Amino acid sequence: MVDLKSQYLKIKETVDSSIQEVINSTAFIKGPEVTKFQEELADYLNVNHVVACGNGTDALQIALMALGLEPGDEVITADFTFAATVEVIGLLRLKPVLVDVDRDTFSINLVELEKAITPKTKAIIPVHLFGQCANMEGVLDIAKRHNLFVIEDTAQAIGAEYKFKDGSVRKAGTVGDIGTTSFFPSKNLGCYGDGGALFTNDDDLAKRLRAIVNHGMYERYYHEEVGVNSRLDSIQAAVLRSKLPHLDTYNQARYNAAMHYNAAFQNVSGLEVPTLVDYSTHVFHQYTLKLNGVDRAGLQTHLKAKGIPSMIYYPLALHNQKAYLQEGVTDSQFPVTMELCSNVISLPMHTELKEDDLDYIIDAVKEFVEK
Ligand SMILES: *Cc1c(COP(=O)(O)O)cnc(C)c1O
Repeated sequence: MVDLKSQYLKIKETVDSSIQEVINSTAFIKGPEVTKFQEELADYLNVNHVVACGNGTDALQIALMALGLEPGDEVITADFTFAATVEVIGLLRLKPVLVDVDRDTFSINLVELEKAITPKTKAIIPVHLFGQCANMEGVLDIAKRHNLFVIEDTAQAIGAEYKFKDGSVRKAGTVGDIGTTSFFPSKNLGCYGDGGALFTNDDDLAKRLRAIVNHGMYERYYHEEVGVNSRLDSIQAAVLRSKLPHLDTYNQARYNAAMHYNAAFQNVSGLEVPTLVDYSTHVFHQYTLKLNGVDRAGLQTHLKAKGIPSMIYYPLALHNQKAYLQEGVTDSQFPVTMELCSNVISLPMHTELKEDDLDYIIDAVKEFVEK
């Protein structure tokens, strides 16, 4: 699905020497590389604070911890996403409230979101799924009217831009109270291990996030609250510093590949190409088709026989996951998610796809679908 090796080879010298420098310095934890990376990412995102941490799941957990919520408080998120979002809500003894998504965008449905709000609701976690922002202006409007925090899960959309109706533009993850991301190797900005980060423009929240990632210490060895140990290590920061200057180019390459797929699939009956919205750019973390009346398992087998990987993100709705079953929650509340779980398929998407690779994949897909 991804080709990290070819991408690495193009920047090998920079990456190798930056890793070697960390080893020479032996500043493996909390070294200057981490500080510099946080500053450079803050510049790139045009946000006041970036707090690096261990991974994208930790980032979500730490964001929730910083909001001072009480057990039983409700946090609303989408039913159609990776489990990390709902996992950390449960871990903190908060109540996850899942809502359906929009069929076009795969992101949280605003009507369902507003219906799910109760006096116990404290926060919303929109997920910018597959690389395109959720409708943040709509989310912010609801959050403001109900006095709710907004945490943006930007694990799949780093570098995407949100366009407000007044023409102003902000980077994904810097629109709500806190943004979180993951540097898992296959993400749009991936390191060579685990990594994550939080973004905020709020000075007080930033202070609290910095303390929580570091055992709840505001001053060394003075623990004011229960925190965690969640760090981006210096070697990962060095890799990310080498890659950040290329992020826009990487995202453009993904976009170009997606447009190539789109052009080929747009008039093929049985295939629905991803929808582009006017309020967000799309950085195509995944290229995901919806199938109408096409045998998905058969298509996967056909592609596999030709050496083409494909993936189902996601095959089972969160409300149907054993770990997150809730009384009174039924499939009928999530018609769109139920449909998507049975008809989406993601094709190879990365920065190194050549036109020949794409045409080979396109021909294989069409061969099956049009037969
Ligand atoms: C990858 C991902 C995460 C988790 O990131 P990790 O670094 O793997 O913990 C969270 N949310 C979404 C939407 C993701 O895609």
